[in-house]
Amino acid sequence: MKCFTHNDLIRPYLFLFVWIAGFNCTFFPGHSNTGPYTNTAPVGTSAGYLLDDYLFTELIVEIDFVDGYEPEDSTIDTLSAFLRKYLDKPDGISIILDDSIDRPKKAVDHAEDLYTLEKKHRDYFPADSSLTIYILILDEGEIKDHTDGIAYLNTSIAVFFKPIRENFGKIGQPETSTVESAVLLHEFGHLLGLVNKGIRMKTEHQAKNRGAHCTVDSCLMHSPIKTSDGNWNLNGGIIPDLCEFCRMDLEAARKIK
Ligand SMILES: [Zn+2]
Ligand SMILES: [Zn+2]
Repeated sequence: MKCFTHNDLIRPYLFLFVWIAGFNCTFFPGHSNTGPYTNTAPVGTSAGYLLDDYLFTELIVEIDFVDGYEPEDSTIDTLSAFLRKYLDKPDGISIILDDSIDRPKKAVDHAEDLYTLEKKHRDYFPADSSLTIYILILDEGEIKDHTDGIAYLNTSIAVFFKPIRENFGKIGQPETSTVESAVLLHEFGHLLGLVNKGIRMKTEHQAKNRGAHCTVDSCLMHSPIKTSDGNWNLNGGIIPDLCEFCRMDLEAARKIK
């Protein structure tokens, strides 16, 4: 199946589309948007909008967290540095530590459960020149193959901090904020279309038996992050960066205008 981004197919027609839709596009607390600003599209389909400044010159990242699982300042700083490195947003990137929310009463075991929570708590939606991302920090979830985090829609990520805080941060182990940052960055990598999930590969490097992940061992996108057994190797506490192949994919997607 062909994956495309806004960059390569839709752009010539976007101005008209956006002009028509723009009349109704402001922040709508508690509502989702439709049209070119939709926040209910598949993961990776907003990669082009995230990577460059063609339509959205500003990025707002909203973080809601279950009471007691507020991210550490260093986690926010690491996320901010990653976004500034790879995204072209001349009017700024803001990370808003927004609401502390109650622990969900019902077990979170499907991506649909995450969207239900998002609809209840998300306050910022793409509008005008601002693109928005929603990060939901929960204590735990039982979503198949996603024990630590999941990118579940084009502008939505959920991460689960309880297994990280239980399994890391002891003597000889990576700091919990390092692991939490790595999980967040990895899931953000999926929103950026990696690997082969929204942007094209310049060079073949998709580990096909591991979904949208990279063949390079040392890459941030190498495999689904699995920290719950405490054995995830962070190379002595250093968060992996994107490999050269992943970086080339981002660069190529950013250049298609
Ligand atoms: Zn992944
Ligand atoms: Zn890679």
